[in-house]
Amino acid sequence: MSDLIKHNASELVEMLASKQVSSVEVTQAHLDRIAEVNPTINSFLHVTGEEALKVASDVDKRRAAGEQLPLLAGLPIAVKDNLTTTDAPTTAGSKILEGWIPQYDATVVKLLRAQGMPILGKTNLDEFAMGSSTEFSAYGPSRNPWDIERIPGGSGGGSSSAVASFSAPLAIGSDTGGSIRFPAAVTGTVGTKPTYGGVSRYGLIALASSLDQIGPVSRSVLDAALLQDVISGHDPHDSTSLPESLGSMADAARNPSVKGKRIGVIKQLTGAGFQPGVQARFDESLELLAKAGAEIVEVDCPSFEYAIAAYYLILPAEASSNLAKFDSVRFGLRVTPDGNPTIERVMAATREAGFGPEVKRRIILGTYALSSGYYDAYYGSAQKVRTLIQRDLAKAFEVADVLVSPTAPTTAFKFGEKIDDPLAMYLNDIATIPANLAGIPGMAIPNGLADEDGLPSGIQLLAPARADARLYEVGAALESLHENVWGKRMMQFAPELKVGA
Ligand code: GLN
Repeated sequence: MSDLIKHNASELVEMLASKQVSSVEVTQAHLDRIAEVNPTINSFLHVTGEEALKVASDVDKRRAAGEQLPLLAGLPIAVKDNLTTTDAPTTAGSKILEGWIPQYDATVVKLLRAQGMPILGKTNLDEFAMGSSTEFSAYGPSRNPWDIERIPGGSGGGSSSAVASFSAPLAIGSDTGGSIRFPAAVTGTVGTKPTYGGVSRYGLIALASSLDQIGPVSRSVLDAALLQDVISGHDPHDSTSLPESLGSMADAARNPSVKGKRIGVIKQLTGAGFQPGVQARFDESLELLAKAGAEIVEVDCPSFEYAIAAYYLILPAEASSNLAKFDSVRFGLRVTPDGNPTIERVMAATREAGFGPEVKRRIILGTYALSSGYYDAYYGSAQKVRTLIQRDLAKAFEVADVLVSPTAPTTAFKFGEKIDDPLAMYLNDIATIPANLAGIPGMAIPNGLADEDGLPSGIQLLAPARADARLYEVGAALESLHENVWGKRMMQFAPELKVGA
């Protein structure tokens, strides 16, 4: 294993710029690591090594010729497999899209290519990003590098496990209810869901369009900032894309500060229901922040009680409509039943064979919630709850600059523990869902080892819409307070990965 893979992205950026290493060396080191661990961890559904090395060698040549290159040029990255790519299959973790190669690159993918970032491959996810464990991927689950008997979080467990297993220095995730932040919490990594509209969704296979947002996955706050800066900005292809720039996240991460900041602890997201070790680490972080000069206040968000219920009406409603296009005609799989079937029977057979159990559950739920006669009672009520949550948050941000909670109630659970109990699975997202319902930015950062198993836990920071930079300012400050106490970075606690087990 090459030592190169242990560096944070920001360190690799400097090493590349000063020609201490070449992009081919850095890219090859990660491809070697993928070859070593991916058969066990299953972070990647497709590895695009040849294409990545081509980009790397092109960047090296341009650098040698003295060309002025973008900041992250030559730095390899992994991309969640629900973003379209013209040079690799895009499955969204579903059988129904097996073998489909899109005709266009997602805007985020285009931005990565314009930076000169070699794309290592496409990462695993729960089918259409529905889930919290990757157990709903049609291509088998990814494993958590901290303990391969446990889930790496979901839906973006491929991206989190790739970054946590040092198979990639950075990855792209998508977060509809927590799919960047929950995986970050259980793998000791950093993940941000930007403000809704901050990053273009063009080319993201939609789950729930009013909740989806693309964001960075990394091993440090500064690394996430560097990536968010690359993927942000207005895109005329996405009508919900914000017209204005949200500023430089890297500048914010390089100027950490908590002194005088008002940190709001969300009453509804602490205490009962949170694993004691997770809660204990959270309380310790509050103490660290207070000692560093932050003012800790408590905030009340009573409508959060209904967040999961509202989310599991709005998400299936939007998903059932978004997934209607997978009809056997336009994309991927087509199953033709015997005889002389009608198009309806071909569609039904294709959707029956192509969709997994969780996707079917949500399509049925969503179609029901949207049906005439029930629309107001279910979808309409859920939208009202959404407004109440937005009001709770607006009030909380009158007395606090940043809100905090544990990212997730527990550490990583074992495979099979929750797969037959959808409600237990949905509860993992209790702390992350409100940010999606309100469109505000949220960041998960590592918060120490939560229990005797030595598994990581996370702390979540929330800021008002468009104030993403504030997350990086406070997040970077808390990260360095932690590193002072721990004497090392979070990922340096991770056990050596046993591969081939
Ligand atoms: N676990 C949540 C769900 O199943 C979150 C999904 C996501 O953010 N994509 O819907």
